[in-house]
Order: sequence, then structure tokens, then C-alpha cells
Amino acid sequence: ATNLVRHFDVGGSLFEKPRKLRAVDDVSLTVNTGETLAIVGESGCGKSTLARMLMRLIAPTSGRMTFEGRQIDQARGRALTELRRDMQFIFQDPFSSLNPRLTVGRLVGEPLETHAPALSARDRRARVAELLTQVGLRPEHTDRYPHEFSGGQRQRIGIARALASGPKLLIGDEPVSALDVSVQAQVINLLADLRDRLSLTLVVIAHDLAVIRYMSDRVAVMYLGRIVEEGPTDEIFARPRHPYTIALLSAIPVAEHGRIKQKVELAGEMPSPIDPPSGCRFHTRCPFAQDRCRAETPQLRDTGLAPGHGAACHFFEEIARDAVPPAQGAG
Ligand code: SF4
Ligand code: MG
Repeated sequence: ATNLVRHFDVGGSLFEKPRKLRAVDDVSLTVNTGETLAIVGESGCGKSTLARMLMRLIAPTSGRMTFEGRQIDQARGRALTELRRDMQFIFQDPFSSLNPRLTVGRLVGEPLETHAPALSARDRRARVAELLTQVGLRPEHTDRYPHEFSGGQRQRIGIARALASGPKLLIGDEPVSALDVSVQAQVINLLADLRDRLSLTLVVIAHDLAVIRYMSDRVAVMYLGRIVEEGPTDEIFARPRHPYTIALLSAIPVAEHGRIKQKVELAGEMPSPIDPPSGCRFHTRCPFAQDRCRAETPQLRDTGLAPGHGAACHFFEEIARDAVPPAQGAG
């Protein structure tokens, strides 16, 4: 995906033009076949919007998206149906995302009717049983309703439903954050296991850094609609370069990130995406901010530390070298 932008019109009345909320602003992202990419950031940073856009649940306002060489940003009709077969979404909330009036058999079988219409009713039932087994549920449960299951089991039903069309890519928007902590690890393990067994490509939206470290190959860090740092997971955890990434890692126990050299404390709240700060959007919270940061938007630049490791900060070289913020006005 390149230069993706998604606006939402907010407010507006007879007298006032709606204002543009740039939820995702000029994001370029590649997901390699077979890898697990994590997208991380605070709530409101645009990661859910980005995930829905990658899935084409919503269309980008501008920008270009390709999937296996096909251009998909304007896909509709049949092309969109085909896309739905190849890419599936796992929702955050397994309580509201499953229709309570449908049995498990119907919930999991429904996508088969769309994507495998030639299947006989008998074969469909067999396939549903197989899908339920794959996610660790019992095939005898097909006649039950979602409310008869626990949160973790419901998320398993959601995953079985997502797998029904035989997707190549799964996108999970905080797939375990609505679940009890005690079952989160089970569902994460299930996803990792399915990925390996079914050769899936995974995009996981998360804010839990332990989850990210455990299951992703690459990380993209988002702040206010933009990617501020990207790279191999081990690399990001060992040598974060963007002050925002350093701040996120500073906030978690050392055991989860090894040892990072510096600490950055995150002050204040994330500003509104309706009227984002000029230049580097992080400058209102960045202890290293200088005049240039307010004037000029930093682009993602190669850190030279590891292949594919980039950071969007004017001063990451200096910041990495010095443990203290550089003098104001310098550089
Ligand atoms: Fe901080 Fe400036 Fe880097 Fe933005 S560009 S992260 S404000 S030092
Ligand atoms: Mg969200």
C-alpha cells in the first residue's frame, strides 16, 4: 500500500463546512507473504482505520493498494468478493461481532455459501466441523448460539468464521484485548499455530507490546495517522530510534524489551487528528523537539542499522548518541 490517506468528515452544519479528520495520513506499507506484521500505537492513532482500509472494509480517500499484484484500492463487486475470500478480518470484540441469532454452524458455514457455493450441504457441514476442530472447539457445538460460549470460545468461533473462505491474509484488530488476560495467551498461541500450519500472512493491530514481541516478525509504529518507525521486531525492541517508540518501550518492564539505552517519558495526551500539530506531529510531546520539528515533516529514513529499519525523525542519529535532549535551537 502506498501513500494511503483516509479522511472522515466530522461535525459540519448549515453554516460550517465539515472538518477533515485525517485518520490515516500518507501511510505506505508492505506486508510480505508469510510474515506477521504488527501495527502498534495508542488508541486513536489510526491503526484500526488502517486495518479496515487494508481489508477494504473502507476505501482509502486516496492512495494505491495492491494485493498479489492486483490493484485493489477501488475494487468493487466481484473483485471485492474475491478479495474477501483471500483476506479476512478478526474483530476485537467477539461479543458484538457475531450475530446472536445464528448458530455456530450457520456463523461458520455462511462464508462457505458465498465462497464455495458448489459445496453440498453435507460437505459444508463436514467443513464446518473441520474448521471448529482447527480452532480447538468441538464439532458437536454447531447447534449452539454464541451466548452459550465464553469470550475466548467466541473469539475462536470468529477465527473459524474468518478461516472458512480459505484466506491467505488475516488481519486482527486487537484480537485478544477484549478477552480475559487468562485466555489471551491461548488465543495468541492459536493464531500463531494456525499461521504456521496454514501458511497464513498475519497483520496484527495491537497495543500490548508483549504480544507484539511474542508473535510478530516486523513492527510498524503509528502516531497520529502516520508511521513513525518500522523494522524487524527484534531490532525495534533492541534499538528503537524514534523518540515515540523509545517512550512506548520505556513504559514497559525491562524484561519485555531487553535493555534500551534511554528512557523517554511520554508527557500529555495525543493531540486531535482533526487539527494535528505542524511538522513532526510528535513535537508537542517530544523532549527532543526543536524549531525544525515544528516546521518540517520528517519522512521515514533508513537507520542503516538493519534492513528495513526506518524512523521518521529529523534527529534520530543525535538522539541515539546522546542520552540527554540536545540543546534547544541547535541543528
Ligand atoms: Fe522529536 Fe523532532 Fe524527532 Fe519529531 S522530528 S520525534 S519532534 S526530535
Ligand atoms: Mg481501535
